[in-house]
Amino acid sequence: MAGIYIHIPFCKQACHYCNFHFSTSLRYKNEFISAILKESELQRNYLSGEPVSSIYFGGGTPSLLEPGELFSILDRLYTHYSVAPDAEITLEANPDDINEKKLVSWKETGFNRLSIGIQSFFEEDLKWMNRAHNARQAINSLKLAQRYFSNITIDLIYGIPILTNEKWKQNADTAINLSIPHLSCYALTIEEKTPLFKMIREHRKENINPDKQSEQFLLLMEWLDRAGYEHYEISNFAKSNFRSRHNTSYWQGKKYLGLGPSAHSYNGQSRQWNIANNNIYIESVNKGTLSIEKEVLTLSQKKNEYIMTSLRTLEGLNLEKTDPEERLRLLAESKRYIDSGLIKSEKNCLTLTREGKLLADGIAANLFI
Ligand code: SF4
Repeated sequence: MAGIYIHIPFCKQACHYCNFHFSTSLRYKNEFISAILKESELQRNYLSGEPVSSIYFGGGTPSLLEPGELFSILDRLYTHYSVAPDAEITLEANPDDINEKKLVSWKETGFNRLSIGIQSFFEEDLKWMNRAHNARQAINSLKLAQRYFSNITIDLIYGIPILTNEKWKQNADTAINLSIPHLSCYALTIEEKTPLFKMIREHRKENINPDKQSEQFLLLMEWLDRAGYEHYEISNFAKSNFRSRHNTSYWQGKKYLGLGPSAHSYNGQSRQWNIANNNIYIESVNKGTLSIEKEVLTLSQKKNEYIMTSLRTLEGLNLEKTDPEERLRLLAESKRYIDSGLIKSEKNCLTLTREGKLLADGIAANLFI
């Protein structure tokens, strides 16, 4: 089973922390739609006919597209790929784009899962991040979306300097009380070339505090565990049967095809990524070519990727999936983390403890070949 990701590179306004590829001008939207339809055809053999169990429209802001435009893309995917009848089909939507008419048409188009970019239910936080929606839209869009979709995930951000633990608790409680079945929660990171990076450098905004972020992550794990969510990946929490099929296939190393500027693809042997420039992307696709970069993965890279992704999951790193030599190496290297309570070793699997999850990337990097 494979996945398809579609990158819609447009947003209403730039969130100050964001380093994804997007444009706030919709001038070339029609040209982009034609290009993505064409690219889906150009790449039709990439997955070698493997059944597609998940399709994910991300971005950018896919909910900015007209329902007819979303339909034409999805329809083209059904033409060129073997989409499974029960495929998970997700649309990322921002609260300010959600209304009854759109929800009805998204459902009719075939979307069966919504990923809503809430980030916070507090007005001052949304302003601080320069989000396009306000606190009223955050809550109302969710309540409205729940009338049409049961499979909903929301994004929440913690560790912004003005987010106190009390406010963070209220954000988590709001999601819990609304019975949102899936939450993706991210610590704010300051990426170079973002407006936030510049503002912090110029002392116009307060910097993040890593200790406070760790504290809020530990609190979150406690609250969501108590509320019956499964912490199935470092940043993802789900009620039973609501894990994201699409993201899970990334973590399990399955094949996926990414369409659109900046989208990444993986076929088990190599990774490739489209150019992160809308105009060059459109021009090259129109000429029947793809502007991509490609990296063939070495055996060591594949092993390291498995360490990195598996350690982030609830199931952990399964030593039985590694060769005998690698198993011995991993056991020796992880001993100090097991002794210090950061890794648990059970039934031939290595998993991170709560404290270990605070240091996930560093621990994984230290276990690399
Ligand atoms: S809406 Fe999403 S993709 Fe667009 S700028 Fe904000 S965070 Fe980035």
